[in-house]
Amino acid sequence: MQAVVLRGHGELSQVAIADVPAPVVRRPGDVRVRLRAAALNHLDLWTVRGLPGLELTFPHILGGDGAGVVDAVGEGVTRVRPGDAVLFNPGISCYRCEHCLAGQHSLCVEYKLLGEHLPGTLAEFIVVPEPNVYPVPTPPAPLPAITWPEAAAFSLVTITAWRMLVTRARLRPGETVLIWGVGGGVSSTALQIATLLGAHTIVTSSSDAKLAKARELGANVTLNHTQVDVAKEVRRLTDQRGVDVIVENVGAATWEQSLRMLGRGGRLVTCGATTGPKVTVDLRRLFWFQWDILGSTMGTADEYREIVHLLGQGHLRPVIDTVFPFARAPEAFRRMAEGDQLGKLVVEVPA
Ligand SMILES: [Zn+2]
Repeated sequence: MQAVVLRGHGELSQVAIADVPAPVVRRPGDVRVRLRAAALNHLDLWTVRGLPGLELTFPHILGGDGAGVVDAVGEGVTRVRPGDAVLFNPGISCYRCEHCLAGQHSLCVEYKLLGEHLPGTLAEFIVVPEPNVYPVPTPPAPLPAITWPEAAAFSLVTITAWRMLVTRARLRPGETVLIWGVGGGVSSTALQIATLLGAHTIVTSSSDAKLAKARELGANVTLNHTQVDVAKEVRRLTDQRGVDVIVENVGAATWEQSLRMLGRGGRLVTCGATTGPKVTVDLRRLFWFQWDILGSTMGTADEYREIVHLLGQGHLRPVIDTVFPFARAPEAFRRMAEGDQLGKLVVEVPA
């Protein structure tokens, strides 16, 4: 089958289209999907460059997100049948360890992500375990049906943003949330979720065009972080009180400012460290203001079921930047690296 593969860690020139063996259904509970679209995430760039402890066999198939049609199922599969249109949770758990049995699947001791530790979605076929697979829902009329690019773009950023805001930060209606870098996939999805929850939203970007798009998505306040001191402006806007929740995935470059505008009882939730992983915290401020500093990654089976339900209700809808034909998939990686996109970069897989 055709696949977008990484030939070895390094630069984007290592990303190529190649012919590789198609995966087969081997175990009970396996579901093989004929992909129709796959979506990129920032994580794919980290996989290209190489991550500590990540040992891959090359060529490695890239891509975490995807959607397609079930083509074969293993013994015992009942949730889906060949011919069903499906999307899937790209976080693969063992479903046996103490964390999985407690329903905390992204704490699984063997947790793996499609496209990072396992063969990815930028291919004609993929095999995933049945508990990860869900039928693509149909929103009520007059909302348009979910397209393949939308179905493919949905899962990773939505489950990540949902767990961050709902489960970890416990964002409540009427609270104020600050979201850094709203052009990013997790951040733009966090904006949609925070709006859905009835929170007051403040978002930042270096691009006025992205801020205009964020206002269309419901942002209450938009700040260009290259033009204003975000922490100072947020304190002014909140009568010096600061915000209740901060969504971080920038890391070292924004950390100090985040803590300058986190209010009493505030929650800072992070899922990334794009600009660097080392930061400092003044413990006196941490205990006096009773902050929660929260890590979050991916999500649980229950959280995934909830977001697919909201997709079906029409409450969540992925924002697509560009859809690339399969032959131009390496270009999608370059666009991701340049950071000009607002929304998801999707690659169509020929039928
Ligand atoms: Zn487990």
